[in-house]
This record gives sequence, C-alpha cells and structure tokens, in this order.
Amino acid sequence: MTKGFALTTPLYYVNALPHIGSAYPTMAADAVARYYRLRGVPVRFVTGTDEHGLKIERRALERGLSPKAHSDEIASGFEQLWQLLSIHYDRFIRTTDPRHKPIVREFFERCWQAGDIYKGRYSGLYCVDCEEFKRPDDLYTDEKTGQSFCKIHSKPVREQDEENYIFALSRYQERLERYYDEHPYFIQPDFRSHEVRNFVAQGLEDFSISRANVEWGLPLPVDPSQTIYVWFDALIGYITALLEPDDEPTLENALARWWPIDLHIVGKDILRFHAIYWPAMLMSAELPLPGCIFGHGFLTRDGKKMGKAAGNVIDPDALARQYGTDAVRYYFLKEIEFGRDNDFSEERFRAILNADLANDLGNLLNRTVNMVARYCGGVVPSVVIEPSDPLREQAAGLPALCAEHWESLRFSEAAAAVLYLVRSGNKYLDTQAPWALFKKGEQAQVEQVLYAVLESVRIAAVLLSPLIPALAAEIYRQLGFADRVWENLTWEAAQWGGLPPDQPLRPGAPLFARLD
Ligand SMILES: [Zn+2]
Repeated sequence: MTKGFALTTPLYYVNALPHIGSAYPTMAADAVARYYRLRGVPVRFVTGTDEHGLKIERRALERGLSPKAHSDEIASGFEQLWQLLSIHYDRFIRTTDPRHKPIVREFFERCWQAGDIYKGRYSGLYCVDCEEFKRPDDLYTDEKTGQSFCKIHSKPVREQDEENYIFALSRYQERLERYYDEHPYFIQPDFRSHEVRNFVAQGLEDFSISRANVEWGLPLPVDPSQTIYVWFDALIGYITALLEPDDEPTLENALARWWPIDLHIVGKDILRFHAIYWPAMLMSAELPLPGCIFGHGFLTRDGKKMGKAAGNVIDPDALARQYGTDAVRYYFLKEIEFGRDNDFSEERFRAILNADLANDLGNLLNRTVNMVARYCGGVVPSVVIEPSDPLREQAAGLPALCAEHWESLRFSEAAAAVLYLVRSGNKYLDTQAPWALFKKGEQAQVEQVLYAVLESVRIAAVLLSPLIPALAAEIYRQLGFADRVWENLTWEAAQWGGLPPDQPLRPGAPLFARLD
C-alpha cells in the first residue's frame, strides 16, 4: 500500500475561540484533503489544539477556570466551527491528551541521547502572546519609557532570565541550510523560503525548551521541577496525532503508518517554528522530515489590521450562518492567492459570490435544467458530442490543469480555470440560443447544445467539489444523479461523457440565491 497523503493545519493555541486566522488555513487543508480523496489517495488530515503554556495558564486564571476546563471549552469551540465549515478531518489532537505525554518523553529522550540538550542560563525578552523569546528585529521600543514591544502583538515583552534546558539549534545550522538547498520545495511559497533562509543565514541561536515557572505543561523528563516549553511539546503533537485509537502510545507506533507528514499548512507568524526548529528537532531525533511547510499570509479587513480592540474581526461562524458554508469556503480560497497577505471587505465578498456562484455557476445550471424541462421532456438528451465541440474541447484539458493547481495549493487558479469553462457555457447558450432553435424546429441542434452545457456544469461540479462540496452535491442532485453516485465520486468523473442519456433531471431552487 502506498503511504497516501498526510497533512496538518497548525495545532491552534486555545487562548481564544477560533477566528478567521484559524478558519482560513483549515478550510484550505480541508480542500486539499478532499482533492486527494477524490483522487483515490488515502488521506490523513490532522488538526487540533495546542493547550499548554503560560498564556493559557493566565487566560484560564483570568476567567476563573482551571487550565483544563478552559481548554476543554475552547477546543470544543474549534470542533463546532469545523463542523459548521464542513471540515472533514481524520484526527483532532489535543496536546493535553494523556497519550501525548509518552510520545513527547520519547522524542525528548532521543534528542537528549544525541547530546543536543544542555542545562544553562537563558535570558532574553519574552513575548507571552508569541510564547517566544524575541530578537531585537522582532521588537520596537517606546522611546519615552524604553519599554520594548512585540511587533506582532504590540504588547510589552518582559525580561526573563532563568536556568533552563536548552536545545542546541546552532549545531544544525549547516545541516538545515544543506537541506533547504537539496529540497527547494521544503518551504513554500518561494518568497517565504527566502525569508526563512535569510533568517537562518544570520546565524541560529540555541533555544530554551523548558520553563522554571510555568506549571501548565508537561514535566521535563530529566528534571521534573521544570516543564517543557509549549512549542517543543506542540510540534510533537503532529506525531502523536498519527496514533491509531488502539495503539500503545509509543513513538514507533505513531510513526509507523503516516510519517513523514507530506504537508504542514501554517501561518507566516509561526513559519520559523515549523521550518527551522521542527526540522532541527527531527534531525536530532533522527527522524525523517516533512515534505513541505507551506506558510500562508495574513488577512486584513478593509485595509486595516484586525483586532478585538478595533472591533473589526471577521467572524467565520457569523459569515457561514449568514451566507452559507460554501460561500465562505469559496471566497477565501478562490479570491485570495494562497500564501499572500490579503484584504477582506464584505462588499467584495458579496460581489464575488454574486458574480461567480449566482450569476455564472448557479445561473448556468438553473437556466439549462429549465430549458431541458421545456424542450427535451426533462431528461438528458441522447446525443453524441464530437470531440471538436468547443465546450468539450475546453473541458478536455481541465482535469490535468486543475490537478496541477490543486497539488501546488493554487486554489484560486484551480477555481478560475473551472469558472472559465462555466462562463464559456453561458456564452455558448447565448450564441446558440436553443430557444430560437426550438422555435425553428431544430430539435437535434437543441439537444446537442443542451447536452454539452449540462456536461460542462457537471464537470465543473466535480472539479470544484473540494472547495464547495455542498453546492457541487446539489448540482449533481439537480442533474438527476442518485446520492450514492455523488458519495462514490472520483476524479475520473471529470472526464467528458459522464451524464447518462435519458436520465431525468430534478429542477430545484436556484443553486445560489443572489445577494442584494
Ligand atoms: Zn508577540
């Protein structure tokens, strides 16, 4: 059996309920997982929550809850949102899962045996929100008070100086650089790879992997007076997640079937942890490295940074309830080039949905199904479409083109290519004018045109299904297919000619109602 395709979202920090910053990469990962399943590839799609650390300890205290009770509540908020957004993950790992602890211990021991962990004094400026010691470049200073602030969080960092256990990251500088050279796709997109490489070229510093004064964490195996640094434990969560439910929690079992992960999707703010710390930790533990770390961009709203204080956060839950799950999935994956920063405005959101889903895709389906009812007795015409037919010609190259886009995480381009076929279908109807042909009694021509258009819509549904699973299923339903045909759909269905002649259509409500 081939290994299949394993991918992860970040394990989200449970300091707060999910927001668009976590929904966005999760929708992307779900679309990729759906694409590979459609290809018949076994998929292991991992998401979950990262629940230890000082920030969680403090947040729970503020709320008058134990860290565990706080984490339970937030983790279930994530699971609920994923359900609403049609996220079909295979594993939801929580780093407070008791099975995570022995895996972290084993991993730690491998690094310890390798001589890569030593005890020493560690001092620096710490951002609790990042859970990270910051470099001077990552900070700005208030000139009046001399206080330094984290650039990401605009919050004061604090001086921390304690006896810690330290991971010898600097030892891995050359090996990492060589690895990046030999694996040009390891960090994507390319411009993010350059950012990471520039950072590494400045010289890597060892980093502390334990905390003396944080209780909410896993105990350090060699010194239980300290807890393991939250990032060290969280990254290993990707491995724990691969255990089968009945497995003994050993590293060997966790790695047996799905390791190495093929794709980690992460935000650009945590790219360094995944593209530098994580591969170095894996090298130290003598484990294979993941295939690709993809760093996506940040979203702003109406040109401004989103924040609670500004009151301009995008609430994915509210958006999905108002506009529908597929509308949200479609907009964020189609309209934003994956990897780049981008801006969200509700006006643009509505305009895109109206243009693509209501006017182009929805309209093409609904007008064609109605014409078939009027001119062809409501059943798929029984005709042969020549390979030279313009729609058939255009559709022929699409599966291969889309596959390339999907596999490179170019969601926008995959969707745009399909929408191009849909627009051609609408134009074809306008120029062929089956209503006029019908009046002239040219029934054979009418049937040719309508079949070609129906078939284009069907192919569009297959190719867009990783993005908009519910709308694609509804297209199949209106085209008269039984549910089980949809449930057993494969990528091969995107080949021309899948619409059975004489199949009765099921005209229904407009696929996507225009937003006014
Ligand atoms: Zn910060």
